[in-house]
Amino acid sequence: MNNIADKTEELRKIRDEVLALSASPLYAYRTENGYFPIIGEGSHDAHLMFVGEAPGENEAKTAKPFCGRSGKMLDDLLASIGMDRKKVYVTNLVKDRPPENRDPEPGEIELYGPFLDRQIAIMEPRVIATLGRHSMKYIFEKYGLSSVLQSVSKIHGMEFKGTAPYGEVTVVALYHPAVALYNGGMKGQLLEDFKVLKKYI
Ligand code: URA
Repeated sequence: MNNIADKTEELRKIRDEVLALSASPLYAYRTENGYFPIIGEGSHDAHLMFVGEAPGENEAKTAKPFCGRSGKMLDDLLASIGMDRKKVYVTNLVKDRPPENRDPEPGEIELYGPFLDRQIAIMEPRVIATLGRHSMKYIFEKYGLSSVLQSVSKIHGMEFKGTAPYGEVTVVALYHPAVALYNGGMKGQLLEDFKVLKKYI
């Protein structure tokens, strides 16, 4: 899809569908807490898409992805390579906050994954950078990279050529930015890994 107005319209449809997704096991938790689902943020023309795991509390309160402490870390990482967050697109695999920030469950990934698939089909990014192991597994399996899928500790910062319905897509597996909040030593690794994205600015 080339026309930005069409992309925005298609993304709006996704937002409306997710808002009404009462079949989700996370729907009651969302409504009881006055939370929002998070669809994504950034340029609808971006050729680089970041895919995180699922929103945390700050995100669910504001409807913006990566706006809490992990988001501040993501901002630092993007700034380190001179990348403007407004020029990329940031989204998550699961669109609603899981209680207590637990890992997404398989049924949740199954339910929300198709919305991510549609976002990718609409935006046709040339590069997808995964932030975390669930989004990594999902994207690698989706785009023909199952045979090279390993734990993120083995393949972080590496580029792989996947096959999307619209053509070749480069996939880069990155650690989730939150790992650097729990383990300060990991920030250096993330800074190093982000350098691989510099050529896609
Ligand atoms: N962690 C994620 O994976 N996504 C967010 O949007 C925030 C924190």
